[in-house]
Order: sequence, then C-alpha cells, then structure tokens
Amino acid sequence: MHALRLNGWKSEAVLEDVPVPEPGPGQVLVQVGGAGACHSDLHLMHDFEDGLLPWHLPFTLGHENAGWVHTLGTGVTGPEPGQPVAVVGAWGCGACARCRVGFETYCEDPANAPVPAGGGGLGLDGGMAEYLLVPAARFLVPLPDGLDPVHAAPLTDAGLTPYHAIKRSLPKLTPDATAVVIGVGGLGHLAVQLLKAVCAAQVIAVDPRAEARQLADEAGADLSLSPDADTAATIRQAAHGRGADVVLDFVGSEATMQTGLAATRMLGDFTLVGIAGGSVPFSFFSQAYEVSLQTTYWGTRGELVEVLDLAARGLLRPDITRFSLADAPEAYRRLAAGEVAGRAVVVP
Ligand code: NAD
Ligand code: ZN
Ligand code: ZN
Repeated sequence: MHALRLNGWKSEAVLEDVPVPEPGPGQVLVQVGGAGACHSDLHLMHDFEDGLLPWHLPFTLGHENAGWVHTLGTGVTGPEPGQPVAVVGAWGCGACARCRVGFETYCEDPANAPVPAGGGGLGLDGGMAEYLLVPAARFLVPLPDGLDPVHAAPLTDAGLTPYHAIKRSLPKLTPDATAVVIGVGGLGHLAVQLLKAVCAAQVIAVDPRAEARQLADEAGADLSLSPDADTAATIRQAAHGRGADVVLDFVGSEATMQTGLAATRMLGDFTLVGIAGGSVPFSFFSQAYEVSLQTTYWGTRGELVEVLDLAARGLLRPDITRFSLADAPEAYRRLAAGEVAGRAVVVP
C-alpha cells in the first residue's frame, strides 16, 4: 500500500510502498477513511532535531484518523468488521493511573506503552496510508450515526484538543465572559465553534488571513481581528474594558503569547496549545493578578466521545478540503503556505 513516510528529521515526508500490516494478538487493522493534516506534522518535518523525541524513524505520518474496522487480531472482541470508527490518537500503557481515566496522553509508564508519548503518526505508523494498525481495541470509538470518517478524522485532534482546553477553563466561561481564539486554522476554527456550542461567552478570533477570519465569522465569532500592535488593547476594550477571561493560543509564537497574555483579565486563563516555540517571561508583575498560564496536549478518550456527539448533532462542522493520498505532500505544502482554510483531510 502507499504510505506517507517520514524518513529523517528536518526532511519532507515522501510517498512509498509498504506492506499492509497484519494485526497481531489484541490488535485491529483499520481501513483509513480520512487522515487529517495537522500543523504538528510540519513541526515534525521541519523543526525537530534528531534526539529531541523518543521515537525511531521511519514512520508513516497521520495522527488524526478515522475509518472502518477491517481485520481483528486474535483475542479481540467488540469491534465488528465494517464498523466506522474514530481512532484515539495517544497510545499509552492502558494500566497506569492516568491511562485508566483516559489520559493516555500523559501515560506515566511509557516503557509499557506501544510507543513513548506518541501514537499512530507520532513515533508509530499513522493513517496517511490505506490501512492503519491500531494496537488495542480501546483506541477505537464507534462513530455515531450521521458522522462519516472524513469529517470524524479531524475531530480526533483538531476538535478534541481545543475541546479539552476549553473544558479546562469552562468555569470561567460565564455568559458575561470573553474568550479569545488566536489562530483560526484547523484547531482554531473548531475552537470557535466549540465555544459557541458549550458556553455563552463572547468570542473574539484573531488571524492575519482573511479566509480564516471569515471561517471564524461563519462559526459565530462576535469579533474577528487581524493581529497588529494594538490587538491586546482592542481585545481588552471589546471585553468590557477589563480583558479576556480565557485566551487560547493556537500559534504559540512569542508575538501571539505576548498579545494573548497582555489581553488576559485578572483571574483569567492563558492556555498555550500551539507549539511554534515562543516564550514569555513569567514573574509576579509580568501579567495581571492571578492569571493562570497553562499548556494542554490533546484530550481524553471520554472527551472524544463528547466531541463526536456534538458533531453528529450538527453543532460542530469541520471545514474540510479533501486530498487524495497521492496529493498528501501537496496538502502539507499548502498548509505550510497558509493556503488551507479549516482542515486538509487525506482520503486514501
Ligand atoms: P494551522 O496551520 O491549520 O492554523 C494556524 C493558524 O494560525 C493559521 O490560520 C494562521 O493564519 C494563524 N496564525 C499564524 N500567525 C498568526 C498570528 N501571529 N496571530 C494569529 N494567528 C496566526 O495549524 P493547526 O493544525 O490548527 O495547529 C495549530 C498549532 O497547534 C500548531 O503549532 C500545532 O503544532 C499545534 N497543535 C498542538 C496540539 C496540542 O495538543 N497542544 C495539538 C494539535 C496541534
Ligand atoms: Zn495534531
Ligand atoms: Zn499509562
């Protein structure tokens, strides 16, 4: 089968022929119906040095996957061949305290996980191929009626990651609150929709691209801004003069972190999701009183069930551009050039 392989750090992934995997005991082979192209894959290809991540190359990219159960390894009960499923992306040990409550992202026994701190497309073969080998049936979530694998795929990361970040701050998202989404790409456009679905806070979106701001407007953003030197002041003013209660930064550059932090209200949350590698000083007076700074990484299996449910009910609608597997390299080229609105999904 064809697969988009990452063969070296600081290199582009390339299409190659690899054997279709055979599911071993406890494993499930999934026929891929959709694999989302995440900006994190661009960081994997271009930004990370050898030795930074505990993973061996090569592996197939694609950590946002959905499809159909194809073949079961021995001992697997539950999934039926043909069943449409979303694939939980982070593959932990399944037995430690974090994994047992669904936080396989934060597995504390990585030596007994299929891969340390990763999953399919992150250290092991991912879904930019015709088939994906999933190491255990607990990583499959049946798709609710009305949701197809192409739309479900981006929900496993571009939907789940902002959902987890929003849920962490939900007590602060009261009807009189203001939430800010910085970066309205794959994750950010779903963050705006999710905020609109789960709370009544005012939503302000920030993105330099007109088509991204248009997506934010269509998702119900109350205000969309192109970033400039006054963005933090504009946000504070629009937020009743007091600043934003929750700022979600889906870029993570020094500029967006400075802006986001400067726009955050006393007692507010500044949540860093984007991994552009920026940093800001943290000291007693470097932000408003009692602002919480936090990072978030992906989300839990239970939260994915909730996200899929929202989408099946029409409350979350990923904006998708489809690419064939042969065009997967082109999908990443366009993502890198800022030419993808919403999410690019590879449909093998
Ligand atoms: P994307 O390329 O689809 O979207 C990024 C958006 O940010 C684009 O719309 C771009 O125009 C906008 N942008 C760029 N500079 C900006 C600025 N100065 N101000 C405002 N907006 C700006 O990327 P994505 O796939 O949505 O991923 C976003 C980030 O989140 C990436 O760094 C990715 O690696 C990271 N990520 C983190 C997690 C996690 O669990 N923490 C999960 C998935 C992705
Ligand atoms: Zn991702
Ligand atoms: Zn674990």
